[in-house]
Amino acid sequence: MSNLHVEDTITAIATPPGIGAISVIRISGNNTFKAVDSIFRGKILIAEVASHTIHYGKIVNPSDELIDDVLISVFKNPHSYTGEDSVEISTHGNPYITQQIIELLLTQNIRIAEPGEFTKRAFLNGKIDLTQAEAVVDVINSRTAVSFRGARNQLDGLLSKKVRGLRNLLLNTSSYIELELDFAEENLEFIGHRELLDRVNEIITEIDNLSATYSFGKIIRDGINVSIAGKPNVGKSSLLNYILKESRAIVSNIPGTTRDIIKEYISIDGILFRLYDTAGIRIPNNEIEKEGVIRSRETVKNSDIVIFLNDIETGISKELYQELLSLTEKQKIITVVNKIDIDPSKAKNFDADLFISALTGEGIDQLFMKLKSLIHNVSGYTEKSAIVSNLRHYNCLIRAKENLLNAKFSIAEKLSGEFIAVDLRNAESDLGEIIGEVTSDDILNNIFMKFCIGK
Ligand code: GDP
Repeated sequence: MSNLHVEDTITAIATPPGIGAISVIRISGNNTFKAVDSIFRGKILIAEVASHTIHYGKIVNPSDELIDDVLISVFKNPHSYTGEDSVEISTHGNPYITQQIIELLLTQNIRIAEPGEFTKRAFLNGKIDLTQAEAVVDVINSRTAVSFRGARNQLDGLLSKKVRGLRNLLLNTSSYIELELDFAEENLEFIGHRELLDRVNEIITEIDNLSATYSFGKIIRDGINVSIAGKPNVGKSSLLNYILKESRAIVSNIPGTTRDIIKEYISIDGILFRLYDTAGIRIPNNEIEKEGVIRSRETVKNSDIVIFLNDIETGISKELYQELLSLTEKQKIITVVNKIDIDPSKAKNFDADLFISALTGEGIDQLFMKLKSLIHNVSGYTEKSAIVSNLRHYNCLIRAKENLLNAKFSIAEKLSGEFIAVDLRNAESDLGEIIGEVTSDDILNNIFMKFCIGK
């Protein structure tokens, strides 16, 4: 089923790269205890101790030279994260040390884990289902109270439970049809036409309710993208800086993801807002600018809100507004005039949504209110309910519904039970894909590719 060599023993550093109090190396697979015992000097043999115990000792190289003194946590299958024999070695937090230990392990019939491979094994060994495996990444990446709660609920299996319930309902319904097909010659009816239709309708309603949580779930998980677009010198960076200073809930940048577009995170009422300073979206002067313009345009296209920023002295830029309209919908654009401090009396000359000063902070509260109004229904989310926040899950639900609508059609048209059975089976398989009971290598690779190594 998978191109994974599940019999392999794998290792990776599980803590972030760099210096810290400790680093943790993970090892999982059949060969774990034997391999670790060959480089570990302690009072015991790891292979002989009980699961869930911790042991002090030294890691040594083949010449018996000390690399580091460590603590080893032991997990015996099936009672581990992956479901396999595994250990975690806590070392002093120095990449030089962890690198040396990893190199020693690689000589012991162990290979480096692929991204997400520990979690993939947890899934393949039935420790968690696919929505829970996906939630592991979301829990790690969540940056606000609300996104954490959403991811945590998914990891706790709230979505799985809901989807599994729907799938069982479907299985139960389709089993009557399959029975009828089995006894086709006797012409028996195991489920009435009306009841069949009622059941299919009930499942469609449940699927609709679940799919409807997606727009909300997406915001919970991914936050809201806000780009600030405006001509040079209108005050874009000044506004960004002011907002960051004011919000106090600054979440620091993720290195390596910003490229040219400056991206900052703030949290308002527990919802993540990603702010982008789009350098320029107008005609470029040279090759370097061209790249920036392409990226800025992409950023505006992908934004949920565009703050169209203007200078009170130079006025609202009509061409830029037209440009923005070609990239995004009108209702996503907030037209803002900046530098109101220079001459407040000029405000009456402009048709803008808001007047602000990035210098004095005037009007920025209203800008915040405007942003907050967009998250009205989401703020304060602490509920324990199943929410769809992942596009993959959403697409599966949409497909399941299409198949159920086909089934409804077949029922209404009194088509042969075989047609109905096929549609119900397809819908069942769509739901199964969400939790990973129906899956393919492509789906799995796609999911686990997004993990970091060591998870
Ligand atoms: P950007 O090119 O759009 O990022 O613009 P900057 O943020 O670099 O601002 C350009 C100039 O306008 C700087 O000299 C800022 O100090 C000034 N500026 C920005 N916002 C305000 C404002 O609200 N009032 C006044 N008086 N000056 C501002």
